[in-house]
Amino acid sequence: MKKIYDVIVIGGGPAGSTAATNLARKGHQVLVLEKEQFPREHVGESLLPFCYHILEDLGVLPEMIARFSRKPGVTFSNLEGTSASHWCFRHEIKDASFLSFHVRRAHFDQLLLENSRKHGAEVLEQTKVVHVDLEATMAPVKVTAEDHLGQTHEYFARFLVDASGQGTFMAKQMNCKLPFDSLRPRLALSTHWKNATLSPDLAAGHIKIVHLEGDQKAGWIWMIPLSEDRLSVGLAVNMEFSNQERRRLANQEEDWQTTLYESELLQTPVVRQVLAGAERWAPVVANGDFSYYAKNKKGSNFAIIGDASAFLDPIFSSGIYLAMKGALLVTDGIDAQLHTGTTDTLEKAYTDIAGAYKLVEKLINTYYDPNYIRWDMADKLPVDGYEKYETAFSLVHLVLAGDFFTNYERYLEAVEVFRNPERLQQFKHLVGSSKINTTVVCADY
Ligand SMILES: Cc1cc2nc3c(=O)[nH]c(=O)nc-3n(C[C@H](O)[C@H](O)[C@H](O)COP(=O)(O)OP(=O)(O)OC[C@H]3O[C@@H](n4cnc5c(N)ncnc54)[C@H](O)[C@@H]3O)c2cc1C
Repeated sequence: MKKIYDVIVIGGGPAGSTAATNLARKGHQVLVLEKEQFPREHVGESLLPFCYHILEDLGVLPEMIARFSRKPGVTFSNLEGTSASHWCFRHEIKDASFLSFHVRRAHFDQLLLENSRKHGAEVLEQTKVVHVDLEATMAPVKVTAEDHLGQTHEYFARFLVDASGQGTFMAKQMNCKLPFDSLRPRLALSTHWKNATLSPDLAAGHIKIVHLEGDQKAGWIWMIPLSEDRLSVGLAVNMEFSNQERRRLANQEEDWQTTLYESELLQTPVVRQVLAGAERWAPVVANGDFSYYAKNKKGSNFAIIGDASAFLDPIFSSGIYLAMKGALLVTDGIDAQLHTGTTDTLEKAYTDIAGAYKLVEKLINTYYDPNYIRWDMADKLPVDGYEKYETAFSLVHLVLAGDFFTNYERYLEAVEVFRNPERLQQFKHLVGSSKINTTVVCADY
């Protein structure tokens, strides 16, 4: 007789493993199908402070603290490093969660997936989902997958969760994957470096985002201190610009992506200084064509979460938090639906997720739109006195920390202050006043 799981989850990344753990601990029979053998490398290494309490709730916080580097803030810098703003989460977050993490994804994702197993989920690695049949009425969802020997297996469940990341399994199968209109397609090139000379902000654990000037590239470079001897450095540029560079560099010996990556890093003084004398740990990896969403994110017996449901430009390091928080909200909804048949919790989950993505999308647009104040200049606003506007800045701190899901409406307005500094005062009443100093690195934690 065929086994019928309560839920099958496609993909064992942060969204899939969070979903599996949450459902398994609520007593559901869960099967995770993951096409890779973990540990596997993955881009996306800097966590927002709002992940902290989720990691605590999942029971992995002690291991996180033991294994990963800490992140007290964010620095936005110009090319030369002559203009920079430093955002310290400690100014607004008063409990231990202000101190976030940078992670090697191979280790982080494995920790979360093992945690799902510990909570009772069944996990099959090297098992790639190739087809899903949701249609059969009065019957469970049928999932067809191939194992590493190429053999085909069928699995059945009452409900399907698609957490296949950029693989976007269900969006592709349903032909409903669309680009975000407001965001241009981009390419990211990245790898890890050893023997880098860390600037004080990087040494203090900040992620550093360097603005590449000009509309043609409309890009940025990230530097993430993963450990004493491992710095992740990535370049994100417009797809049109990278296509031009591909054609220009077509006839040279080294692959064009590595040449483009290295030449952009070398042309950027603030990065060049850090990488003088450093060597790459591994070849350059490309991630392209990000920023899309699945038009249909749920149905009576399926739900799409994490990057499989939508992906926004990663400039604000929002992806993992959106994926994990979204996974918790949606699986609470699935739990309610499987137990009582009610769909209110699931509906509310997707309303809040839509609000969170809208806020992050708007934040991303402030970075690229030349009409907004540049983030590296944020503490040099043409207004009389920074402290006068500290309440609006405290809101922006919270948005940078990940407060996307509960207050998105008012934050949507607060982000507008980056277009018009005179509006800062309007936000004074929204939260209590706090001391903010964005001119120093957040080293004293
Ligand atoms: C350039 C770049 C930089 C980024 N930087 C950051 C950052 O600093 N901070 C941050 O928070 N986020 C960042 N992100 C985003 C972050 O990587 C993602 O949001 C996060 O990984 C989403 O988790 P997920 O579980 O939805 O997807 P994933 O982590 O991609 O997991 C999906 C899993 O599904 C599996 N899978 C796919 N198809 C199938 C199939 N058919 N069958 C079985 N398994 C399947 C995959 O093997 C994978 O393990 C970045 C992203 C990019 C592209």
